[in-house]
Amino acid sequence: MPELPEVEALVDHVRRNAVGLTIGRVDVAALSVLKTFEPPVNALHGHTVVAADRWGKYLGVRAGELWLIAHLSRAGWLRWSDRLAAAPLRPGKGPIALRVHLGNPGDAPGFDLTEAGTQKRLAVWLVDDPQQVPGIAALGPDALDLSSDELATLLAGNTGRIKTVITDQKVIAGIGNAYSDEILHVAKISPFATAGKLSERQLVTLHDAMVSVLSDAVNRSVGQQAASLKGEKRSGLRVHARTGLPCPVCGAAVRAVSFADKSFQYCPTCQTGGKVLADRRMSRLLK
Ligand SMILES: [Zn+2]
Repeated sequence: MPELPEVEALVDHVRRNAVGLTIGRVDVAALSVLKTFEPPVNALHGHTVVAADRWGKYLGVRAGELWLIAHLSRAGWLRWSDRLAAAPLRPGKGPIALRVHLGNPGDAPGFDLTEAGTQKRLAVWLVDDPQQVPGIAALGPDALDLSSDELATLLAGNTGRIKTVITDQKVIAGIGNAYSDEILHVAKISPFATAGKLSERQLVTLHDAMVSVLSDAVNRSVGQQAASLKGEKRSGLRVHARTGLPCPVCGAAVRAVSFADKSFQYCPTCQTGGKVLADRRMSRLLK
């Protein structure tokens, strides 16, 4: 799932390539992605792109007075093309849900909002104020716009597990399963630690890790021209999706905790004092 760094890289690409261009046509292949119907998407026709922005894991393109906003969810992507085909999209065929032509169709660049796989969760809104998107209105402060003191205040008294709390978009915006694994590994904090019980020193370490992990990932994602790729391509991960591989810090095998449809990773030596966390799927099988 694209998180803050990947979405930031996509927004950066749109900002540098689309601003100043006029929307020629918007093609919709998957009506189900549209969460708003008024105004209709053709209200964008003839308007010039003036901005692109990010709110947590949401991205938006402003044309005229309207914002086209997308949440890429688990398998969505924004794919840029220097020249898009003019032929209309065939509904229900292929990964393209919505196509935006920036100029005369067939003779202009533009972008597709795509979604791989069978779980269709990509969502698109057309609004005059981003705060009209319920998920955006509910977001906590952005992970890259948070001081160490503000983080401490947000976590104070929270009895949830730190892994769950920092991936809750209403608490902190932008962090998902992959980067929370990375942040907690760098901070040497157990994913199951109670958020409100972290020491002052752990809070500072956690904040430093959040800033360094996310900033490094933004730079890498921007550098690899994310919007030119077909989907997210992460590099430089230390523990996430590396079950069984050596921890780059201590060499111990990275362990996983699995849930129904996802898993997360950590290093027991670096993060839990050697303790192996209960793997719910495994423990259910062993019962
Ligand atoms: Zn380690």
